[in-house]
Amino acid sequence: MASRDIGQIRGDVESFQSELMEEFYQNYAGLKDDMSTVAIYDKYSHLFSNDSIDVIESAMQGPAPSDDARWLRYLRTFCTLGHVDSAVKLLTDKATTFEAQSSVDCDGEKIPYRFIPVKLRNEPDHEKRRRLFEAKLVETQELNKTLLERVATAHDLSVVLGFKNYRDLCSTLKGVDYKALEEQMEEMLRRTERLYVKEMGGLMEKRTGISLPDAWSYDIPFAFRGEEFDKSFVKQKLVGTFFATLKGIGLDSEKFTNIHIDMEERPKKTPRAFCAPVRVPDDVRLVIMPTGGWRDYDAFFHEGGHAWHFGCTAKGLPAEYRYLGDNSVTESFAFLFNYLPSNKLWLQKVLGMEEPDEYVRFTLVNKLMFLRRYASKLIYEQKLHNAHIGPDFQEVYRNCLQKGLKFRHTEKHYLEDVDDAFYCAEYLRAWILEGQIRAALEGEFGEEWFSNEKAGKFLRELWSYGQKYSADELVKTIGYVDLDIDPMLLEIERGLSE
Ligand SMILES: [Zn+2]
Repeated sequence: MASRDIGQIRGDVESFQSELMEEFYQNYAGLKDDMSTVAIYDKYSHLFSNDSIDVIESAMQGPAPSDDARWLRYLRTFCTLGHVDSAVKLLTDKATTFEAQSSVDCDGEKIPYRFIPVKLRNEPDHEKRRRLFEAKLVETQELNKTLLERVATAHDLSVVLGFKNYRDLCSTLKGVDYKALEEQMEEMLRRTERLYVKEMGGLMEKRTGISLPDAWSYDIPFAFRGEEFDKSFVKQKLVGTFFATLKGIGLDSEKFTNIHIDMEERPKKTPRAFCAPVRVPDDVRLVIMPTGGWRDYDAFFHEGGHAWHFGCTAKGLPAEYRYLGDNSVTESFAFLFNYLPSNKLWLQKVLGMEEPDEYVRFTLVNKLMFLRRYASKLIYEQKLHNAHIGPDFQEVYRNCLQKGLKFRHTEKHYLEDVDDAFYCAEYLRAWILEGQIRAALEGEFGEEWFSNEKAGKFLRELWSYGQKYSADELVKTIGYVDLDIDPMLLEIERGLSE
């Protein structure tokens, strides 16, 4: 195939993304049985070819484009990471098929592999949870063979592409200094250690009767089930409460005809809320089949944050800023809404919860646990992606996670518990950025920023940039020097000291 020029590559990014999102939407919304992403990837395989990467890299060496060169960097990241994905595509399919088709034998019952987390969350008996978990690990060990081959392939390819290793590839392409982020996270872990041990230990004793050092990772989802809170988060009020929240910041949901809410009940629709930005900003779909409960509210508000971010992105921006760029940015807006249903004032004023204190504590301990979990993952994944993987990495995984979380982990999750391309860092940066955006909103508009129309204007301005600016650049536009963990930690420390 003849070499394409940069204009053709750029032109295809939007159609590729739109077709892929439409396919995801159709499948997860229960409108279509099969998922045919392979055909879409095949149609656009030229985007992820060595040829395209060469074209982009030589454009980067030429004179810088007149406005800014961010789009060129985002394009290079997208095509190169896509190139790595294509190289491991068969192994990804093999792993996904294994997860979808294998089942676990426990106490004479056959349970689908993917259903185990649901079982674990709802199983009150620790011993039964242990048996479920151990039965699952038999299958995990089988799956690990494929996952190991997949990671090793990505590692080898990184060197072929001219990077030191996979960590260097991700760090260079995404422009994120993982070492510096790790240092911030080490500080976060130190600073919150005593608070975490006290609060998480208390929560485990109260909800499972197991002390933190004796608890296993499989006890945690049950400990955070929190079903007594569900009655305050009514299914029928979910979407209305979200719209009321938008109204509070001066945004009339009816005027956003580009954001489609799909609430229809379909037998094959996924129960979890999701956002499909099919064409940014003209066709953004927010999909939900409400079941009620606090988790449902958290998930819908999270996806709603994504939907309004994409839906308010400026139309005239190049596709790279509407679809690509730093995902910490869209995740931070998702978190901003995600955590409103655990904000004491919001719970009282918007949801009408009379005594929110216990629920607020519960969600803050949950947030702190997740922060420490992702920080521990970052520390581990840096080691994993910096070297050739040997059998000792199983122990490295266990030690990193246990050091940060203080409950027990299996070494067998050393590959299953890893997302591609350091997505853990995107979440960590998003948590930090969310803390800073919220602090800026509170500074400008007071603690009840969510009932101030000016807050909506402030957010619309930030949303309009899409993902043109990285998280580090975006904080500068709201008065900070850099990404700073302080606002994020102050919220947790204050909330838990009351
Ligand atoms: Zn998200």
